[in-house]
Amino acid sequence: MLHNEFMDLPFYIMFYLIASFYGLCIGSFLNVVIFRLPKDESLVKRSSHCMTCGTPILWRDNIPVLGWLMLKGRCRSCGEPISKRYPIVESLNCIVYLTAFTVLDFSLQTILYCFFFSALICIAFIDWDTQEMDLRILLFIALLAIPDIVLSVIRLSSEETFRNLPEFLTDGNLPLSSHLIGLVCIGLPFFLIGEISIPIIEKIFGERFRAIELGDTILMAAGGLLIGWKATVVAAFFGICIAAVCGAILKKRGGESKFAFGPYLAIGLFLGTLFGEQLLDAYIAWVTFDPTQALA
Ligand SMILES: [Zn+2]
Repeated sequence: MLHNEFMDLPFYIMFYLIASFYGLCIGSFLNVVIFRLPKDESLVKRSSHCMTCGTPILWRDNIPVLGWLMLKGRCRSCGEPISKRYPIVESLNCIVYLTAFTVLDFSLQTILYCFFFSALICIAFIDWDTQEMDLRILLFIALLAIPDIVLSVIRLSSEETFRNLPEFLTDGNLPLSSHLIGLVCIGLPFFLIGEISIPIIEKIFGERFRAIELGDTILMAAGGLLIGWKATVVAAFFGICIAAVCGAILKKRGGESKFAFGPYLAIGLFLGTLFGEQLLDAYIAWVTFDPTQALA
Protein backbone atom coordinates (compact mmCIF):
# COMPACT_ATOMS: atom_id res chain seq x y z
CA MET A 1 0.00 0.00 0.00
CA LEU A 2 2.79 2.45 0.93
CA HIS A 3 4.59 1.82 -2.35
CA ASN A 4 1.47 2.61 -4.35
CA GLU A 5 2.33 5.43 -6.78
CA PHE A 6 -1.13 6.97 -6.41
CA MET A 7 -0.53 7.94 -2.78
CA ASP A 8 0.20 11.64 -2.33
CA LEU A 9 2.64 13.51 -0.11
CA PRO A 10 0.21 14.52 2.69
CA PHE A 11 -0.67 10.85 3.06
CA TYR A 12 2.99 9.89 3.54
CA ILE A 13 3.58 12.73 6.02
CA MET A 14 0.53 11.66 8.05
CA PHE A 15 1.52 8.01 7.90
CA TYR A 16 5.11 8.60 9.04
CA LEU A 17 3.97 10.97 11.81
CA ILE A 18 1.58 8.34 13.19
CA ALA A 19 4.23 5.61 12.88
CA SER A 20 6.76 7.85 14.69
CA PHE A 21 4.26 8.53 17.46
CA TYR A 22 3.71 4.81 18.05
CA GLY A 23 7.45 4.12 17.72
CA LEU A 24 8.31 6.67 20.44
CA CYS A 25 5.50 5.68 22.82
CA ILE A 26 6.23 1.95 22.56
CA GLY A 27 9.95 2.81 22.86
CA SER A 28 9.13 4.53 26.14
CA PHE A 29 7.46 1.33 27.35
CA LEU A 30 10.54 -0.68 26.27
CA ASN A 31 12.62 1.36 28.73
CA VAL A 32 10.30 0.16 31.49
CA VAL A 33 10.63 -3.45 30.28
CA ILE A 34 14.44 -3.25 30.01
CA PHE A 35 14.73 -1.80 33.49
CA ARG A 36 12.08 -3.74 35.41
CA LEU A 37 11.82 -7.19 33.80
CA PRO A 38 15.25 -8.45 34.97
CA LYS A 39 14.31 -7.35 38.52
CA ASP A 40 10.86 -8.99 38.25
CA GLU A 41 9.18 -5.64 39.01
CA SER A 42 5.67 -4.96 37.74
CA LEU A 43 5.56 -3.35 34.28
CA VAL A 44 2.38 -1.38 34.95
CA LYS A 45 1.85 -0.74 38.65
CA ARG A 46 4.29 1.90 39.80
CA SER A 47 4.51 5.15 37.84
CA SER A 48 7.94 6.25 36.55
CA HIS A 49 10.16 7.83 39.14
CA CYS A 50 13.69 9.23 39.38
CA MET A 51 16.27 6.49 39.95
CA THR A 52 18.21 8.64 42.44
CA CYS A 53 15.67 10.53 44.58
CA GLY A 54 12.51 8.51 43.81
CA THR A 55 10.43 11.61 42.93
CA PRO A 56 7.60 10.68 40.53
CA ILE A 57 8.23 12.03 37.01
CA LEU A 58 5.73 14.62 35.72
CA TRP A 59 3.79 13.56 32.62
CA ARG A 60 5.33 16.38 30.55
CA ASP A 61 8.86 15.29 31.55
CA ASN A 62 7.89 11.77 30.52
CA ILE A 63 7.20 12.67 26.86
CA PRO A 64 9.54 10.43 24.82
CA VAL A 65 12.87 12.08 23.84
CA LEU A 66 11.48 15.65 24.17
CA GLY A 67 11.04 15.32 27.95
CA TRP A 68 14.67 14.26 28.35
CA LEU A 69 15.89 17.06 26.04
CA MET A 70 13.88 19.75 27.87
CA LEU A 71 15.30 18.59 31.21
CA LYS A 72 18.76 18.60 29.60
CA GLY A 73 19.15 15.02 30.87
CA ARG A 74 18.82 15.91 34.57
CA CYS A 75 16.16 15.17 37.20
CA ARG A 76 13.87 18.17 37.92
CA SER A 77 14.03 17.76 41.70
CA CYS A 78 17.52 16.42 42.53
CA GLY A 79 19.49 17.43 39.41
CA GLU A 80 21.15 14.04 39.07
CA PRO A 81 21.76 12.94 35.47
CA ILE A 82 19.11 10.74 33.82
CA SER A 83 20.60 7.98 31.68
CA LYS A 84 21.01 8.79 27.96
CA ARG A 85 19.72 5.31 27.35
CA TYR A 86 16.07 6.42 27.72
CA PRO A 87 16.00 8.76 24.71
CA ILE A 88 18.30 6.37 22.79
CA VAL A 89 15.93 3.39 23.19
CA GLU A 90 12.92 5.58 22.28
CA SER A 91 14.52 6.99 19.13
CA LEU A 92 15.94 3.60 18.17
CA ASN A 93 12.48 2.00 18.34
CA CYS A 94 11.04 4.86 16.27
CA ILE A 95 13.77 4.59 13.58
CA VAL A 96 13.33 0.83 13.42
CA TYR A 97 9.56 1.19 12.79
CA LEU A 98 10.03 3.81 10.07
CA THR A 99 12.70 1.65 8.39
CA ALA A 100 10.45 -1.42 8.52
CA PHE A 101 7.50 0.37 6.86
CA THR A 102 9.81 1.90 4.24
CA VAL A 103 11.62 -1.33 3.29
CA LEU A 104 8.60 -3.64 3.60
CA ASP A 105 5.09 -2.21 3.34
CA PHE A 106 2.09 -1.41 5.49
CA SER A 107 0.65 -4.85 6.25
CA LEU A 108 -0.22 -7.05 9.20
CA GLN A 109 3.11 -8.84 8.68
CA THR A 110 5.10 -5.58 8.99
CA ILE A 111 3.21 -4.56 12.14
CA LEU A 112 4.06 -7.95 13.70
CA TYR A 113 7.69 -7.49 12.61
CA CYS A 114 7.69 -4.09 14.36
CA PHE A 115 6.67 -5.80 17.61
CA PHE A 116 9.43 -8.34 16.93
CA PHE A 117 11.99 -5.52 16.54
CA SER A 118 10.80 -3.95 19.80
CA ALA A 119 11.27 -7.33 21.52
CA LEU A 120 14.77 -7.53 19.98
CA ILE A 121 15.66 -4.11 21.43
CA CYS A 122 14.63 -5.35 24.90
CA ILE A 123 16.57 -8.60 24.44
CA ALA A 124 19.69 -6.76 23.27
CA PHE A 125 19.78 -4.32 26.20
CA ILE A 126 18.79 -6.86 28.87
CA ASP A 127 21.38 -9.37 27.59
CA TRP A 128 24.04 -6.63 27.47
CA ASP A 129 23.27 -5.66 31.10
CA THR A 130 22.69 -9.05 32.70
CA GLN A 131 24.02 -11.65 30.18
CA GLU A 132 20.61 -13.27 30.40
CA MET A 133 17.55 -13.57 28.23
CA ASP A 134 14.00 -13.42 29.49
CA LEU A 135 11.97 -16.46 28.44
CA ARG A 136 8.79 -14.35 28.41
CA ILE A 137 10.16 -12.12 25.63
CA LEU A 138 11.26 -15.19 23.64
CA LEU A 139 7.77 -16.68 24.04
CA PHE A 140 6.28 -13.37 22.88
CA ILE A 141 8.36 -13.62 19.66
CA ALA A 142 7.14 -17.18 19.01
CA LEU A 143 3.51 -16.04 19.53
CA LEU A 144 3.97 -13.29 16.92
CA ALA A 145 4.43 -16.08 14.35
CA ILE A 146 0.91 -17.49 14.87
CA PRO A 147 -1.13 -15.11 12.60
CA ASP A 148 1.08 -15.77 9.56
CA ILE A 149 1.17 -19.52 10.24
CA VAL A 150 -2.66 -19.55 10.32
CA LEU A 151 -2.66 -17.69 6.97
CA SER A 152 -0.12 -20.17 5.55
CA VAL A 153 -2.39 -23.07 6.57
CA ILE A 154 -5.38 -21.35 4.90
CA ARG A 155 -3.24 -20.92 1.76
CA LEU A 156 -2.28 -24.60 1.80
CA SER A 157 -5.84 -25.83 2.22
CA SER A 158 -7.49 -23.45 -0.24
CA GLU A 159 -5.57 -21.12 -2.55
CA GLU A 160 -8.87 -19.49 -3.57
CA THR A 161 -9.92 -18.54 -0.02
CA PHE A 162 -6.44 -17.13 0.53
CA ARG A 163 -6.59 -14.97 -2.63
CA ASN A 164 -9.95 -13.53 -1.55
CA LEU A 165 -8.52 -12.28 1.76
CA PRO A 166 -7.59 -8.58 2.03
CA GLU A 167 -4.07 -7.74 0.81
CA PHE A 168 -3.32 -6.20 4.20
CA LEU A 169 -3.45 -9.72 5.70
CA THR A 170 -1.82 -11.74 2.92
CA ASP A 171 1.00 -9.35 1.97
CA GLY A 172 4.39 -10.89 2.80
CA ASN A 173 2.89 -14.26 3.76
CA LEU A 174 5.48 -17.04 4.00
CA PRO A 175 4.86 -20.69 3.12
CA LEU A 176 4.25 -22.99 6.10
CA SER A 177 7.44 -24.90 5.22
CA SER A 178 9.49 -21.69 5.53
CA HIS A 179 8.16 -21.10 9.06
CA LEU A 180 8.85 -24.70 10.12
CA ILE A 181 12.34 -24.92 8.58
CA GLY A 182 13.03 -21.47 10.11
CA LEU A 183 12.30 -22.93 13.55
CA VAL A 184 15.11 -25.52 13.27
CA CYS A 185 17.59 -24.31 10.61
CA ILE A 186 19.70 -22.27 13.06
CA GLY A 187 18.15 -23.24 16.41
CA LEU A 188 19.06 -26.91 16.01
CA PRO A 189 22.74 -26.40 15.00
CA PHE A 190 23.10 -23.82 17.81
CA PHE A 191 21.66 -26.35 20.27
CA LEU A 192 24.00 -29.13 19.08
CA ILE A 193 27.08 -26.87 19.14
CA GLY A 194 26.09 -25.88 22.69
CA GLU A 195 25.71 -29.53 23.78
CA ILE A 196 28.99 -30.67 22.21
CA SER A 197 30.88 -27.68 23.60
CA ILE A 198 30.02 -28.33 27.28
CA PRO A 199 32.51 -31.20 27.90
CA ILE A 200 35.19 -29.53 25.74
CA ILE A 201 34.92 -26.21 27.61
CA GLU A 202 34.90 -28.05 30.94
CA LYS A 203 38.14 -29.80 29.98
CA ILE A 204 39.93 -26.60 28.91
CA PHE A 205 38.56 -23.98 31.34
CA GLY A 206 37.32 -26.22 34.18
CA GLU A 207 33.94 -24.45 34.03
CA ARG A 208 30.58 -25.73 32.82
CA PHE A 209 29.00 -23.45 30.23
CA ARG A 210 27.82 -23.68 26.64
CA ALA A 211 29.66 -22.06 23.71
CA ILE A 212 26.22 -20.90 22.55
CA GLU A 213 23.81 -20.26 25.41
CA LEU A 214 20.29 -21.72 25.45
CA GLY A 215 18.80 -18.20 25.35
CA ASP A 216 20.56 -17.45 22.03
CA THR A 217 19.41 -20.84 20.72
CA ILE A 218 15.75 -20.20 21.63
CA LEU A 219 15.99 -16.68 20.19
CA MET A 220 17.06 -18.04 16.79
CA ALA A 221 14.38 -20.77 16.92
CA ALA A 222 11.55 -18.36 17.86
CA GLY A 223 12.79 -15.70 15.43
CA GLY A 224 13.17 -18.34 12.71
CA LEU A 225 9.58 -19.51 13.19
CA LEU A 226 8.43 -15.91 12.69
CA ILE A 227 10.58 -14.71 9.77
CA GLY A 228 11.12 -17.97 7.84
CA TRP A 229 14.27 -19.89 7.01
CA LYS A 230 15.85 -17.61 4.38
CA ALA A 231 15.76 -14.53 6.60
CA THR A 232 17.00 -16.60 9.56
CA VAL A 233 20.04 -17.97 7.72
CA VAL A 234 21.01 -14.44 6.66
CA ALA A 235 20.31 -13.20 10.22
CA ALA A 236 22.64 -15.81 11.73
CA PHE A 237 25.34 -14.96 9.18
CA PHE A 238 25.17 -11.22 9.97
CA GLY A 239 24.86 -11.85 13.72
CA ILE A 240 27.93 -14.09 13.87
CA CYS A 241 30.02 -11.74 11.67
CA ILE A 242 29.12 -8.63 13.70
CA ALA A 243 29.72 -10.53 16.97
CA ALA A 244 33.15 -11.71 15.75
CA VAL A 245 34.25 -8.17 14.81
CA CYS A 246 32.84 -6.53 17.98
CA GLY A 247 34.11 -9.40 20.16
CA ALA A 248 37.64 -8.89 18.83
CA ILE A 249 37.44 -5.13 19.46
CA LEU A 250 36.08 -5.61 23.01
CA LYS A 251 38.78 -8.17 23.77
CA LYS A 252 41.50 -5.81 22.54
CA ARG A 253 40.14 -3.18 24.92
CA GLY A 254 40.72 -5.68 27.72
CA GLY A 255 37.19 -7.00 28.22
CA GLU A 256 36.18 -10.49 29.29
CA SER A 257 36.30 -13.32 26.76
CA LYS A 258 32.73 -14.36 27.68
CA PHE A 259 30.32 -11.80 26.33
CA ALA A 260 26.63 -11.36 25.47
CA PHE A 261 25.82 -12.76 22.03
CA GLY A 262 22.20 -11.52 22.15
CA PRO A 263 22.74 -7.91 20.98
CA TYR A 264 24.57 -9.09 17.83
CA LEU A 265 21.97 -11.76 17.04
CA ALA A 266 19.31 -9.06 17.50
CA ILE A 267 21.02 -6.83 14.90
CA GLY A 268 21.38 -9.86 12.61
CA LEU A 269 17.68 -10.72 12.99
CA PHE A 270 16.68 -7.13 12.22
CA LEU A 271 18.77 -7.08 9.01
CA GLY A 272 17.68 -10.62 8.10
CA THR A 273 13.98 -9.72 8.45
CA LEU A 274 14.33 -6.67 6.22
CA PHE A 275 16.71 -7.95 3.54
CA GLY A 276 17.20 -11.71 4.12
CA GLU A 277 14.82 -13.10 1.50
CA GLN A 278 16.18 -10.92 -1.35
CA LEU A 279 19.83 -11.40 -0.30
CA LEU A 280 19.56 -15.19 -0.14
CA ASP A 281 17.62 -15.40 -3.43
CA ALA A 282 20.27 -13.23 -5.11
CA TYR A 283 23.03 -15.42 -3.64
CA ILE A 284 21.34 -18.65 -4.81
CA ALA A 285 20.88 -17.16 -8.31
CA TRP A 286 24.56 -16.19 -8.34
CA VAL A 287 25.98 -19.57 -7.26
CA THR A 288 23.64 -21.53 -9.55
CA PHE A 289 24.22 -19.21 -12.52
CA ASP A 290 25.16 -21.26 -15.56
CA PRO A 291 26.78 -19.16 -18.31
CA THR A 292 26.25 -21.84 -20.99
CA GLN A 293 22.51 -21.76 -20.24
CA ALA A 294 22.46 -17.97 -20.43
CA LEU A 295 24.10 -18.01 -23.88
CA ALA A 296 21.86 -20.70 -25.27
ZN1 LIG B 1 15.89 12.85 41.21
